[in-house]
Amino acid sequence: MELRTEHGIEIPSDVYGNNIAFACPCCGFPVLATSNAPKNIARGASPDKPVPCRRCMTKYWIETDQSCFVLHRG
Ligand SMILES: [Zn+2]
Repeated sequence: MELRTEHGIEIPSDVYGNNIAFACPCCGFPVLATSNAPKNIARGASPDKPVPCRRCMTKYWIETDQSCFVLHRG
């Protein structure tokens, strides 16, 4: 599945199972998030478990749509 923004713009990503690697849209630094993972290991899978970019600290989480992953920015 592809990773897209809330506005439907595709973000280059590497998706493997529940793991989603992408370049931070703000600064380009690599970010690794998970989707549909158990809460205790979830990383960027919901608004209360966001993953911060390690360079610019923008927070992200990913939700699963019918046909793609949607990247949200916190
Ligand atoms: Zn960043």
